[in-house]
Amino acid sequence: MAQLSYDRLLLAPGGVTRLLDIPGLAEHGVGFKTVAEALYLRNHVLDRMEVASSTSELDRRQAALTFVVVGAGYAGTELTAHMARLTANLLPYYPALAPDHIRWLFVDMASSVMPELGERLAITR
Ligand SMILES: Cc1cc2nc3c(=O)[nH]c(=O)nc-3n(C[C@H](O)[C@H](O)[C@H](O)COP(=O)(O)OP(=O)(O)OC[C@H]3O[C@@H](n4cnc5c(N)ncnc54)[C@H](O)[C@@H]3O)c2cc1C
Repeated sequence: MAQLSYDRLLLAPGGVTRLLDIPGLAEHGVGFKTVAEALYLRNHVLDRMEVASSTSELDRRQAALTFVVVGAGYAGTELTAHMARLTANLLPYYPALAPDHIRWLFVDMASSVMPELGERLAITR
């Protein structure tokens, strides 16, 4: 095995998704850090559209089309905006579904969306 010498070694292996102490997140949440996770999320949303479209049970349809994004920082905000647009753009392919069947819930313990932008730019509820 080759050996390298160095004066200073910098380790920058990246971070991990924080789960905090949010009930259910560890068991049911999907991360949004890698391309594989992004593809999984996209496919999951498409799968839920299919499920919702193939049932006439309103409760089942509503559950399938309720998406929860935890974290109103840059990544969560971008994810929610793009995914909400994706589901809206897909509606013409699912005649059984209507815009008000789809719910994107965006949750954070902070009192505004993207609080890191400061009071002037952050979106306050
Ligand atoms: C969805 C999303 C969107 C984002 N959008 C933006 C944006 O628009 N603008 C912005 O500025 N930031 C954005 N970020 C944040 C940005 O991606 C991170 O802040 C940045 O990538 C962190 O850089 P890093 O070098 O610390 O870690 P990383 O980019 O995670 O790099 C760490 C690298 O170390 C490697 N590694 C880990 N362990 C080992 C090991 N044991 N041996 C060898 N290699 C290892 C990993 O494979 C990885 O390649 C976004 C993040 C996400 C998740």
